[in-house]
Amino acid sequence: MDSRSAAHLLHEIVALLELQGEDPAVPAPFADAARSLAADEARPLAELLKRDKRRFAPEVVEVLEQFRDDGDADLLDRLRESTPEGLFEMMRVPGLGPSRIRRIHEGLGLDTLQELEEAARDGRLAELPRFGARTAEQVLRGIAWLKESGAQILLPHGRAEAERVLAALRRQPGVVRAEIAGAVRRHCETVRDVEIVAACGRDPEAVAATFARSPGVRDSVGSGTREVSIRFDDGVRLQLHCVTPEQFVVTWFRATGSESHVQEVAARAALRGLTLGAHDLRDASGRPVELADEPALYAACGLPWMTPELREGLGELAAAANGTLPGLISLSDIRGVLHCHSQYSDGGATIAELAAAARARGWSYLGVSDHSQSAFYAGGLTAESLVRQHEEIDAINASFTDFRVLKGVEADILPCGRIDYPVEVLDRFDYVIASVHSRLGMNEKQMTDRVLKALADPHMSVLGHPTGRLLLTREPYAINMDAILARAGELGVAVELNADPHRLDLDWRLAKLAGAYDTKIEIGPDAHSVDGLDNMALGIGMARKAWLTAADVINTRSADEFVEFATRRRREQTAAMVAKVS
Ligand SMILES: [Zn+2]
Ligand SMILES: [Zn+2]
Repeated sequence: MDSRSAAHLLHEIVALLELQGEDPAVPAPFADAARSLAADEARPLAELLKRDKRRFAPEVVEVLEQFRDDGDADLLDRLRESTPEGLFEMMRVPGLGPSRIRRIHEGLGLDTLQELEEAARDGRLAELPRFGARTAEQVLRGIAWLKESGAQILLPHGRAEAERVLAALRRQPGVVRAEIAGAVRRHCETVRDVEIVAACGRDPEAVAATFARSPGVRDSVGSGTREVSIRFDDGVRLQLHCVTPEQFVVTWFRATGSESHVQEVAARAALRGLTLGAHDLRDASGRPVELADEPALYAACGLPWMTPELREGLGELAAAANGTLPGLISLSDIRGVLHCHSQYSDGGATIAELAAAARARGWSYLGVSDHSQSAFYAGGLTAESLVRQHEEIDAINASFTDFRVLKGVEADILPCGRIDYPVEVLDRFDYVIASVHSRLGMNEKQMTDRVLKALADPHMSVLGHPTGRLLLTREPYAINMDAILARAGELGVAVELNADPHRLDLDWRLAKLAGAYDTKIEIGPDAHSVDGLDNMALGIGMARKAWLTAADVINTRSADEFVEFATRRRREQTAAMVAKVS
C-alpha cells in the first residue's frame, strides 16, 4: 500500500471514531497523520515506516504497520463492522459531519440515507434539538446533490490513480498494450470510474483475474470474464477491459466515450454499411475490418480522428464533417499567466520565485494578483503594503530583459457591487481581476446585479472564478451567467476559466457559450505556490473541451497587448472626462 491510500483509510478511521462519539483526543493523532500523509508525495508505506516512523503516534504506527503487512487494520475492521452502512453514506451529504450524524442516529434511530430523507421531509429531523427547518431543507438538498454526483473524484486524483494502475498493468506478463480511457482520457473535470483497456497477447480472462487479486483491491465484480469492476481500498473504482490485440482499438474507443459520441460514430459507420460492435468493426459481409489505430477507425467511418476532449456528442461530428471544427488552443499558445498569489497575501512563494518559475515554463510574463484589503481571511493587502509590493516588482523587472512581472490584483467584488479599493489605488494596477468571495448565498437577481455593477467599473479587466463553485463540495452560486457573459463581451471584460482543479470555473460548457458572445476568456492558474502554475495544463484541457482557440484566450497575447486590453476602458473614461472639462 502507498502512503496516499493509507491517508484515505486513516481519514475513514477518524470519521468512524467521531461517529461513535469517541472523545476528540482519540481520533486526533489519526487525523494529524492523515493530513500530513495526504500533503506528501505518495510513496510505499514500507519505506515511510523505515524512515519516518517517529512522525506518528504509537497507535497510528500500529495501524500503518498493519496496512503495510495486510492492507487492512484491526481497528478499521472493527469500526466498519460496528457502523451501519447507511451512516457512511450520510457522511457524504454536504453539511453533515460525524457529530450531527450521531445525533440523528441516536435521536431518531435512523440507519439509512432513505430514512434520513423521509425524516427530513416529514418534519421529524427539523424537530431534533439544534436542527430546525432550515437544516432539514439543507439536508434534503444535500441528498439530492449526492444522488446526482455519486462517488466522484477530481480529475487530477482520477488521473493519478489511472496512471498508477496503468503502470502496474503494463508490468503484467501478457499485456501488449494498455491505455487510459473514459472520463480521464476525455479530460472531464470529475471522474466516477477510472477506465483502462488492455490488449493481452494471450488469455485476457487470466490477466483480468490476476489484476482483480492485486494488493489494495477491496472487492471486484466480474471475475472470470474480460471485464472486471474493481474497488480499491481508498474507494476508487476501476473498470478494466482486457481484450485481444485485434479488439483493442474498438474497445478503447468505446470505453473512452462519451456514450453519445460513440453512438453518433456508430450511426456514421452504419451509413457506410459497417457495424460497430462491442469490440470490432465489421463490414457488410460480417468480416472484421482490420484497424491499426483509432484514426483508422474514424477514417473507416469517413471522419477525421477526434481528440478525446471533444468527444461529448455536442455537435463535433457535424462540425468535423463540414470543416468548421476550430483549431483548438494548446498549452504552448499561452504566453503568460495572470492569476497568482504571492507571500504578500495567502501564497507560499515570493514574487521572484514565481517569476523565475514562469520564465522557466517558457512564458514571458507573470501577473501577481494578491487579495485586496477586504479579504482579511486571505491576508488581503492594505494600500500601504501595495506600495512596497510595487517597488519590489519594479526592482525584479529591472533584472529582466525578456520577462515582465505585471502589477495585478484579485480584488473582492463587495456585496454592493463595488470593487474593493478606491479609484486612486485601482489606477495603479496594470490590470484588475475582480471576484466574489463573500455573501455567496444571495439570490440570482441580487448576485447577477452585484456582478453586473462591478463589470460596469472601467477598472475591471477580468471576472475571476465567475460562479464560485468548488467541485464536489460547493455548488455554483445563483447567477445568470448568460447575462454576465453577454455584458462582459459588450464591455470588453475577460471572464476567467480558473484552472484550480477544485474550481475549473467557468465550467467548460459555459465557456463554450462565451464564444457566441465574443467574450474573451482568461485562463488563470490561481497559483498559491510555484507548483500551482502547473494548473494551467488542466485549464487548457477545459478550454479544449469548450472548443476555444488561441484567439479566444486573452493570455495568449503579449504582455503589452494584454495590458492594452486591460486598461482600455479606464483610459477611455479619463479621455472622456478630460474632453468634457476642456
Ligand atoms: Zn478568488
Ligand atoms: Zn485567487
